[in-house]
Amino acid sequence: MGEKRARVVIVPCDSYEEEKVYCAMRTGIDLLGGIGKFASPQEKILVKPNFLSAALPEKAVTTHPAVIKAMLRILSEAGCTEVKYGDSPGHGSCAGAAAKIGLTPENTFGAGLADMSEEVLTTFPEGLTAQEFYFAKEVTEADAIISLCKMKTHALERITGAVKNVYGLICGYRKAAGHVKYPNASVFARMLADIHRCVKPRLHIMDGIVAMEGNGPGSGDPVSMKVLLFSEDPVALDTVFCTLVYLDPELVPTNIQGEAMGIGTYHRSRIEVVTPAEAPVTNHGGTDADHVRTDADYGETDADHGGTDAGHAGRSFERLNGAALRERYGNRQFRVDRKGTKRTFLLRYSDFMTSLAKRPRIDKDLCIRCGVCVEHCPVPGKAVSFKNGRDEPPVYDYKKCIRCYCCQEMCPRHAITAGRRKE
Ligand code: SF4
Ligand code: SF4
Repeated sequence: MGEKRARVVIVPCDSYEEEKVYCAMRTGIDLLGGIGKFASPQEKILVKPNFLSAALPEKAVTTHPAVIKAMLRILSEAGCTEVKYGDSPGHGSCAGAAAKIGLTPENTFGAGLADMSEEVLTTFPEGLTAQEFYFAKEVTEADAIISLCKMKTHALERITGAVKNVYGLICGYRKAAGHVKYPNASVFARMLADIHRCVKPRLHIMDGIVAMEGNGPGSGDPVSMKVLLFSEDPVALDTVFCTLVYLDPELVPTNIQGEAMGIGTYHRSRIEVVTPAEAPVTNHGGTDADHVRTDADYGETDADHGGTDAGHAGRSFERLNGAALRERYGNRQFRVDRKGTKRTFLLRYSDFMTSLAKRPRIDKDLCIRCGVCVEHCPVPGKAVSFKNGRDEPPVYDYKKCIRCYCCQEMCPRHAITAGRRKE
């Protein structure tokens, strides 16, 4: 018997047309074993999208409403009646974010909107890095959590996907404090892994129909990727995202720490990627000769490309190795931080060193002096402030700055970028 592999399902979907998204979601969930494997009618289910802030769907800041609605419809059809959906945004309210993307009681299949503002202190003695969390009350009341993350770049962790999405289970204003308590990318990733170990989301679905590249997670640019990803393993799912965008999975702290802490695997040889057999081909134009990484970089040994098999719930599927995955669904032009080398002695510290090198900067022409960045800076005494008065943009004190990038995430005018000195 071979080693059990984490399954990641990739389903093409070229638009947010609701029926199309629903069919793609059903297919993806069926290829993981069907909705009955993840939720039953007797249970209280919390569906957790990414509501970073109140933003229109086309900005690609939040999980698209069509994906949320499809999930709620599937749960409703499965007889689940105690379903809530919600996230605790970094700025504003869950209700405000839901309203901005057009979710109402009439179009959410009987599910309730979780308020996500009342916190409950939850102790977790088994935590390896974090032993307590201030979860939103609805998290503590749920029997099962289904995570609907968004495919986006991230200044601190390079990408935000399935592992990072659970941070929204923490009540809003506590999130900034978490960056002080867990002040670099690795230790922050370990804290995220402890949240997974504590609440054990049953299913992770990534909205990558339109992703965000560049200055994510709040100020980047929408980019069409035309895929939905599904897995029970959040690290494997994020690893497939990395593969699609030619980012070495070993450069992502949430992958490294997630595997070290037992919530999943980033080793491609332990990940089985499948796609529906009847899937249409979607190619973003990258050629093999242009690959930034090769399959050998991931230890790829899968020889099943092109094979078909009888799948779950009567659906047939095709296994994809790394090359086939990229050829069909990849985008080598996707703008993400790919700098760094892997598996050197220094790499153990490289994400920390990288975060030290990347400085947040304000574009004074875009800045409207609103003060949101100052308000969200978690450092006591503030590392960004209106030192020169409100007529000038805020200025940074880089000696105090812990490079959490909360200011960059929250700036409503996309005026803040995080880059290395040369950039
Ligand atoms: S949040 Fe953005 S726009 Fe507002 S003061 Fe800070 S940099 Fe300027
Ligand atoms: S200035 Fe920005 S990056 Fe630095 S600690 Fe404050 S919020 Fe974080």
